[in-house]
Amino acid sequence: MRRSKVTLLLLLLVTNFFIVSAANPKIKNVIFMIGDGMGLAQVYAGMTASETPLSLEQFPYMGISKTYSASDYITDSAAGGTALACGVKTNNGMIGVAPDGSPVYSALHILAQHGWATGVIATSSITDATPASFVAHQPSRKMQEEIAADFVANTPDVFIGGGRKYFNSRKDGRNLLTELNNKGYEMISDLNGLKQSRSLKLAALLAEDGMPSMLDGRGNMLADATEKAIDVLKKNKKGFFLMVEGSQIDWQCHANNQEGVISEMLDFDKAVAKALEFAQNDGHTLVVVTADHETGGLVLKGGDINKHEVDAGFMLKGHSAVPVLVFAYGPGAEQFSGVMQNISMKNKILNLFNIH
Ligand code: MG
Ligand code: ZN
Repeated sequence: MRRSKVTLLLLLLVTNFFIVSAANPKIKNVIFMIGDGMGLAQVYAGMTASETPLSLEQFPYMGISKTYSASDYITDSAAGGTALACGVKTNNGMIGVAPDGSPVYSALHILAQHGWATGVIATSSITDATPASFVAHQPSRKMQEEIAADFVANTPDVFIGGGRKYFNSRKDGRNLLTELNNKGYEMISDLNGLKQSRSLKLAALLAEDGMPSMLDGRGNMLADATEKAIDVLKKNKKGFFLMVEGSQIDWQCHANNQEGVISEMLDFDKAVAKALEFAQNDGHTLVVVTADHETGGLVLKGGDINKHEVDAGFMLKGHSAVPVLVFAYGPGAEQFSGVMQNISMKNKILNLFNIH
């Protein structure tokens, strides 16, 4: 009798444990994805053009993010990136510093200090404003050689993008590729080398400056890089933080090139698919997809949903002030719903880990 009571109690405890765990799976990894310049019109142009539903359509939680910076109603990607990465509104042009120039630290940086593996991927130069905001601290986004040196000082375990010339063709004569090699990094210069790498620390600089656009044949680099980075980083027992940027949605919007915007949008969504697929299988990975700002003042003037046709117009050559979307999946995803400030996302993430 007594024994069966104990068994019943144990059974209840175990069942309860599993129910609670299923409802609140423990967070381990974060994949934070930024479509640079990706407003709602860009997203819907992609949804319309795509023959199949976008991965973005599978996210259960959504919010909107206010993007204004400390200096301007319309942010640039430096202040926008710093807000998302470091949780501080700064002046346009500034990277990982507050308006007074003092350094502010990203969730990536703080989790790295606590033993998480980290990665940064972009289709721009890796030293460009968005990826730089997660790693570097400089008063101007134009200081790409100084930002490259910050990548060597505060190295993420994996970084993949363009920008080789800022590492090996520098005014100060340093060869940062050699320095990274000496720090135990495998240096990779093409996509094949990236796929074949077995290193836990790798720097893949696949172009001198930005990567080619999709229209110019970039191919599957962003999705491949995302898959590879996840493969490497997941080996870390504590977990990982990976930032992935679809950098060139913004560039095509600046160029007012509709076909270009859609191609970059669909390419970014392929990388989102890789992240989401991993998170669905893993169960302990939060995926957040957002933008730093909208670019181009994109308007969808017409189209045909059955023919996957869209007729877009651009109001602007630059950025607009309109809030951007936030998509979230995984443990803690519900925190990313509603109307939020771009600076709130860093602490939402760290709070999920009970790190402050
Ligand atoms: Mg960018
Ligand atoms: Zn831009």
